[in-house]
Amino acid sequence: MNMILKTEDLHVSYGGIRALRGVNINIPQGEIVAILGANGAGKTTLLRTISGLVKSEQGKVIYLDNNITKAPVEKIVKNGILHVPEGRQIFEDLSVFENLKIGAFSTEKKEMKFQNLDSDVQKLVIQRLKQLSIKDNPTVILNKQEAFMQNLSFVYRLFPVLKERKSQIATTLSGGEMQMLAIGRALMGSPKLLILDEPSLGLAPLIIKSIFETITMLKEQGLSILIVEQNALQTLKIADYAYVLQIGKVVKEGKAKDLIKDHSLIEAYLG
Ligand code: ATP
Repeated sequence: MNMILKTEDLHVSYGGIRALRGVNINIPQGEIVAILGANGAGKTTLLRTISGLVKSEQGKVIYLDNNITKAPVEKIVKNGILHVPEGRQIFEDLSVFENLKIGAFSTEKKEMKFQNLDSDVQKLVIQRLKQLSIKDNPTVILNKQEAFMQNLSFVYRLFPVLKERKSQIATTLSGGEMQMLAIGRALMGSPKLLILDEPSLGLAPLIIKSIFETITMLKEQGLSILIVEQNALQTLKIADYAYVLQIGKVVKEGKAKDLIKDHSLIEAYLG
């Protein structure tokens, strides 16, 4: 089976705290892989290390047969790993459309280059890219116009509510709509691997159901997806394969359809 991404023996520490202690995972092309585990198990750290936001002290991240362990975030984004962070990190004072537009930018080199953005929005974009840890002095370059229009119409078809509310300031969206916007913004960057950190966090059951259905649809479109979730049972229903992390190590892995039947696992690690 072709792997879009794998990690080999990843170790990450924050000062004295060893957040990852030798993590190996494989993500097959076109599949949904879930990372489950209790609070503090290292799930977010694993995602951030794959995206290049955190650097590992040992081990490798291999993406499409390239070693990207030390690659800068902007290059990783440009090559198709798009991360929807925990808490969504929507630019709340920008409109829905402006948020989507920001998703179509990639950052490069040192100087700045903008197209089609007014100066106030430019300043905000830079400020927010920095907040998202997308490096100092980002150069912001809009994707090719054609890809932009294609991605935009795909996002609007996937989430019609974002089209209806495209001029609305993002802060006025509901939690579910903000999550849709966060996913939509990542889709504007033409992902090959979509990384989702707790997409169901704080949402009502019906909205969670619809977000999970969307994730399945994205898989059907050919995307590979890595998802971290507290919501273990629902995630196992849509995932192909899952890893359970505990204190920085994989303590269990297997096909989602097998893990879902393992009641002792659910009780022991996922409660
Ligand atoms: P949660 O579900 O609560 O988000 P998690 O499984 O995603 O947890 P991480 O956020 O990766 O876990 O945290 C793993 C460990 O690393 C925890 O002990 C956490 O306190 C620590 N940690 C995470 N980020 C930092 C940081 N920036 N500085 C110091 N310690 C950190």
